[in-house]
Amino acid sequence: MVLNSPRGTADIFGNNIEYRDHIIRSAVKLFEVFNYSEIITPAFEHTEVFSRSIGTETDIVSREMYTFTDKKGRSLTLRPEGTAAVVRAVIENKMYAAGATLKLFYIGNMFRYERPQKGRMREFWQLGIEAFGSDNALLDAEVIWMLNLLFKELGFKNLALLVNSLGCNKCRQDFLAEFGKYLEPLAGRLCGDCKNRAEKNPMRIFDCKKEGCAEVLADSPKIISFLCGQCRDHFSRVLEYLEKLGINYKKDESLVRGFDYYTRTIFEIVSEDIKSAQNALGGGGRYDRLVKQFGGPDIPAVGFAVGIDRTMMLMGQLGIKPGGKVKKTRIYLICMEEKYQDYCLEVLKYFRDKNFICDINFSNRNLKSEIKQVGKNEYDFAVIIGEKEVKDRMVTIKDIVAFKQHSVKWDGEKDKILKIIGAGDNE
Ligand code: AMP
Repeated sequence: MVLNSPRGTADIFGNNIEYRDHIIRSAVKLFEVFNYSEIITPAFEHTEVFSRSIGTETDIVSREMYTFTDKKGRSLTLRPEGTAAVVRAVIENKMYAAGATLKLFYIGNMFRYERPQKGRMREFWQLGIEAFGSDNALLDAEVIWMLNLLFKELGFKNLALLVNSLGCNKCRQDFLAEFGKYLEPLAGRLCGDCKNRAEKNPMRIFDCKKEGCAEVLADSPKIISFLCGQCRDHFSRVLEYLEKLGINYKKDESLVRGFDYYTRTIFEIVSEDIKSAQNALGGGGRYDRLVKQFGGPDIPAVGFAVGIDRTMMLMGQLGIKPGGKVKKTRIYLICMEEKYQDYCLEVLKYFRDKNFICDINFSNRNLKSEIKQVGKNEYDFAVIIGEKEVKDRMVTIKDIVAFKQHSVKWDGEKDKILKIIGAGDNE
């Protein structure tokens, strides 16, 4: 029986690797410019790392976590997102210093037991940043600036940057008191999950995708109207900085995010060229209470996460090419018989030492089918070594693009060979 990869997972290879590399390279370049350095955390953590931070009533914690018990009876969970683990690591490794900003980025696979569909998977890759140590609105603006810039640089055109503020604890309490009153007469129209949420964690009702619940929320009070003076000022300053930076944003009063830890600014970037629900490329927000909640010092923080697979998928759908990669010359060495391999090895080693992408036929010895391989694998040159070449210590170089053939002496004519295959293009 042929085995397939588990539902909701995918193998990444071929062209997709090029897209993925391009996204990661562009992001890392940008992160470095903004002075972020990389952190790598484990793919699994103690379950509590996620349940305590993301919130027990969220979709992620209540039904999407890959949780298992190890052989010693510990409850572990494959990470469903990056922030909680980074916060755990920052506290555990005492990476913070008073008065300084700590800026970290990560790239990693995440796991959520979701209903798989196009652009929504059970294992997916995210890259993200977390900035600790300041509640300065400029830091929120900087983080949003980076998110926006990344997609601009990748070549996305019609982007919508949605922003909202969830305020602090006090704003939320004031809002929840009003929201509770608003919901009371309408509770019967909520779905089963939301009836439960209304009691345990009403903010999460904003996450519900069901039409009935969306209708209930249409006229509901919005948290933005309940912001205290300080939170209102903070949000105004974030927006002012964005305007100064020439970043177009849309205030979206209904925007919520799927984690409980957010405070104040939250944001999301979506591609307006795609009309599906899977058009969100990334998002994030401020989480000023989380470090303390984890037992660390009282340090504010802000960050975002970008879906790499989602970005790859939308780039493909929108015809955005992963540009910027310098094409290396590709050479295919065709060894006509096994007994010529000693000579071929010398040639192969020379090209590889010179950094050309060079491969050799390990099995097939039929010239016609080998030449077919050359075309299929986008080689620029075929170097053929048969009886005559070995006897005269020559190489036959077929220029696939220019349709030309050259016979060159191997000893003493390397300059000529390098000229034919374009030395310098291989760096
Ligand atoms: P989140 O961690 O939920 O804020 O998601 C941040 C980004 O990760 C989203 O905007 C998506 O691009 C991506 N993402 C989230 N969940 C999935 C998933 N199940 N499959 C693929 N990409 C995802």
